[in-house]
Amino acid sequence: MHEGGAGVRELKAENEALRGQLASLIEQAENNYAIMMRHQAFDLEIVGAAGFQELVATIFRQLPVISDLDVVTLSLVDAGADIYTVMHKLGVDFEALPNLLFHEHAGALGHDLAQDAPKPLLGPHDPALHRMAFPQPPAGLASVALVPLLRNKRLLGSLNLGSRDPARFTPLLGTDFVEHMGSIIAICLENVISNEMLKYIGLTDALTGVYNRRYMDRRLVEEIGRARRQTYRVSCMYIDIDHFKQVNDVHGHGAGDEVLREVAARIKAELRMSDALGRFGGEEFVVLLIDADLDSASLVAGRIRAGVADQPFLLADGTMLSVSVSIGVATLDDFERDHAIEGVAQQLVAQADQALYEAKESGRNRVVAR
Ligand code: GH3
Ligand code: MG
Ligand code: MG
Repeated sequence: MHEGGAGVRELKAENEALRGQLASLIEQAENNYAIMMRHQAFDLEIVGAAGFQELVATIFRQLPVISDLDVVTLSLVDAGADIYTVMHKLGVDFEALPNLLFHEHAGALGHDLAQDAPKPLLGPHDPALHRMAFPQPPAGLASVALVPLLRNKRLLGSLNLGSRDPARFTPLLGTDFVEHMGSIIAICLENVISNEMLKYIGLTDALTGVYNRRYMDRRLVEEIGRARRQTYRVSCMYIDIDHFKQVNDVHGHGAGDEVLREVAARIKAELRMSDALGRFGGEEFVVLLIDADLDSASLVAGRIRAGVADQPFLLADGTMLSVSVSIGVATLDDFERDHAIEGVAQQLVAQADQALYEAKESGRNRVVAR
């Protein structure tokens, strides 16, 4: 009996210990389940991101929280700064994304480029070795994971995770989880980048980099609609290079292209961020000025005229060339409020074109406002 009593107590104790273990296993399983759910929600959110800014902002906002990290950075391979330039032109706010890093060469990312599919690199944080991934590491950063972002064996970039916990990322740890995360992020990134590139190509003029006519037509309608609701003035400039045919005839088509690019740049230099500049045809540009009446638009037009005519153009072959433009300016009248927007937009451009015609007739290299 005595011995039996001891046996029961032992069993009870063992039973309690097992229950305790089970409880902690269940807690761990629930924990893992919660982490998995958070990651699933994260996957869905990044797959649904509408564009580059939204995708990258979501990664920086969510990943540190759901994965309990102290720092997340994203390095992108961007030869020739193509991605940066296009995103900038599409209005991506890089100041809001300080942990987004661009690198000219894939070599800067720290991954082994000799491998077809480099593996994530996990280990202790080394300020010198990880300078590119963490240019401003948080105090106490102890362990890091550099996860290569691969698409079709091409290294798009690296997702860099950092923790103050030295045991968080060690070389012995399995990499399945971060590899999975890396491959989803790589797909999403490639997708938004190519969508944004297409959008950009569809809206811009390849020669000068300013907007194309399709974009300007759409923007005009948008801006006129907004101007009506918020009661500010919208003005329009029609700009045409004087005797441009001669530039082509005398100096060649290549020189003509150079002049077009330089004229576009000089126009742009006089505009505000909110204004829109587009190339409408061969050597014709249209500018849409937001919140500008006829007088202030004429002032800007005068600056553009002078900016082109006062400084000769220096071509790549050393040729110096005098170029001038004629500009017609028009503004939206209040009495057009009741008309359909598309018609008003066309009318505004036509009015500026008519003023341009008068500028040409009266001798070129001048501004006419009407
Ligand atoms: P005006 O002072 O009356 O405007 O005379 P203009 O010679 O500028 O006018 P016109 O419309 O007769 O000539 C426009 C020329 O623009 C014709 C064409 O050779 C040239 N052109 C049109 N598109 C391009 C282009 O993409 N590149 C180059 N290099 N030339 C172009
Ligand atoms: Mg013309
Ligand atoms: Mg011309």
